[in-house]
Amino acid sequence: MKNHILVPTLSHIRVTDPLFGSYIDQVSRQLLPYQWNVLNDKLPDVKSSYCISNFRIAAGLEQGHHRGAVFCDTDAYKWLETLAYCLQCGHGQELLPAAEELIALIESAQEEDGYLQTYFTVDHPDQKWKNLAEGHELYGAGHLMEAAVAFHQATGNETILQVAVRLADLICCVFGDAPDCCHGYPGHQEVELGLVKLYQLTGTQRYLEMARHFLRIRGQKPNYLMRELAETGDARIFPEFADYDEKYAQSHLPPVEQRTAEGHAVRAMYMYSAMADIARECEDEELKTACLELWRNVTEKRMYITGGIGSSGHLERFTTDYDLPNDRMYCESCASVGLMMFGRRMAALTGSAAYYDTVERALCNTVLAGVQDQGDRYFYVNPLEVWPDNCLPSTSMAHVKPVRQRWFDVACCPSNIGRTLASLGQYLYARDEKSLYVNQLISSTITEEIRGLRLHLEMQVSLQEAFRGDFQLELEGEGTIMLRIRIPSWLEYHSFTLDGRVIRPAVENGYAVLALSRPGVQHLVLTGHTTPRWVTANARVRADLGRLALAYGPYVYCLEQTDNGDNLAQIYVRPDAAVTVEAGDPTLPGTLPALRFSGLRLDSGVDGLYGTPRFRFTEQRLTAVPYGLWCNRQPGEMIVWLKALLPVMDHLIPS
Ligand SMILES: [Zn+2]
Repeated sequence: MKNHILVPTLSHIRVTDPLFGSYIDQVSRQLLPYQWNVLNDKLPDVKSSYCISNFRIAAGLEQGHHRGAVFCDTDAYKWLETLAYCLQCGHGQELLPAAEELIALIESAQEEDGYLQTYFTVDHPDQKWKNLAEGHELYGAGHLMEAAVAFHQATGNETILQVAVRLADLICCVFGDAPDCCHGYPGHQEVELGLVKLYQLTGTQRYLEMARHFLRIRGQKPNYLMRELAETGDARIFPEFADYDEKYAQSHLPPVEQRTAEGHAVRAMYMYSAMADIARECEDEELKTACLELWRNVTEKRMYITGGIGSSGHLERFTTDYDLPNDRMYCESCASVGLMMFGRRMAALTGSAAYYDTVERALCNTVLAGVQDQGDRYFYVNPLEVWPDNCLPSTSMAHVKPVRQRWFDVACCPSNIGRTLASLGQYLYARDEKSLYVNQLISSTITEEIRGLRLHLEMQVSLQEAFRGDFQLELEGEGTIMLRIRIPSWLEYHSFTLDGRVIRPAVENGYAVLALSRPGVQHLVLTGHTTPRWVTANARVRADLGRLALAYGPYVYCLEQTDNGDNLAQIYVRPDAAVTVEAGDPTLPGTLPALRFSGLRLDSGVDGLYGTPRFRFTEQRLTAVPYGLWCNRQPGEMIVWLKALLPVMDHLIPS
């Protein structure tokens, strides 16, 4: 039966956590004004975006040709969506005039019939909907719909909603099974997500049906995208699509038959997220089964410890099980945003808290790493090991940047990180008709009305020497609300007290469940044991075999050159090395601790390039910092997976 787990209203949530709270503050204070200037090409030392200029040309306000990426309209849509979430949370009102200016411009750029994509309107009007593999029109439409829904929810603005509705109506006319319809589907999935959100807001059934249609016809034979590309010939928008294959855009099989994560990682995550949406909205058990299997393949065989995905730098894609190289992977920030999106939807589909372990892994590590603490520099690619000297242009490492960049030719990640942080509340809490779900243990407050009762919850979480979560619960009204608190997998044991008395709530689907019925204020405390832990990987992960990573709570830690010197490949650590939790560097945001331990630095004893080994270890005291905060100080080398020193191996050998 369809469950009714919903995203709570963002305006009811405040994130007070010192780390995430400061990043969220930066979204409206720094990230959005900065990105607005970039989209308007106002920063002379930053790559040109051409985004707003393209809209102005399409609207007839400027002369010229389209410049920038074919899909760069979406940078404006995601900017608007990010602002919408900020406004819902009470920030960013000073940016409203810019938003209104942008909405008027988008509306002017929309064609009479609802069509909207500046690249085709300006320069290729005869090519509309004819290059779905590369053209990204449906991708852009999806981002417009998401922005429009969010902005309408934040402000009641009808203009942007009507722009999205006109475009959705056009898509419902152009695409479909009828003989005179286009039988294609998006080369980059995203419109499915936008259509579902537009359906949920407007109740217009055909939007849901169109999203389902795109998932149903994808991967049917003969392959629509491959045939289209063959007809395109040499007139490619993306020269790298010469290597385009059916798996790249997950069109090798109908989605319902897919069982392994293939192709471009962001496309995959957006499609799986849409599949989970449709499985839930349409109570489609086959689609749900596919989602469960795909989730398992990603998280059990193809995901980095940091929640990064996409092992191949070439074509930004999945490769094969256990192939997780640390220095030349892709791990796009958008892919980890997509993994959070997929995980949240799987939790809503199944009611299980376990999905939030992965959402948390992606959020606290890769997504956090994707943005500088000031909000104006970004990682697109998120390596687990960096030697800046070999991140050279025109080499196989060209895609790996050792420092965050101010902008990109393809700039999907900066705004994707922005909208994720601005809407973080949707990953912290959920609700259904009788329960409030606490999905992330991140300090915050929420007020929700459930069953006519009003619950105000203040959560204060500390992860220093130990874990402690304080929940102040204020209930108004008569009746009972179920409070479901996720017990994360990294909490080794846990106990609760309510107003000082020990209680033992049942744990269902990974949630501790408490029935709240006493009006007034109660004080719930969750204490738990968590210590810094050494982690190793399955032996099939060749890149990590004989290596150790350090984690504390949900945070993966790394060594940086600024704390530990250069050539971090020399560092070895004993698997039982004692780790102390100490005050973190005060120049880093938040209050996460630093972890310190003793390791060893190996010298080969060779002066030339090669020679007789004369191995020698020297002791070194090492400092690890959260991976999500790396490169916020002096740039330099970084490493997550340290070589394990296994001095006594005899007891591992069976006699
Ligand atoms: Zn991206």
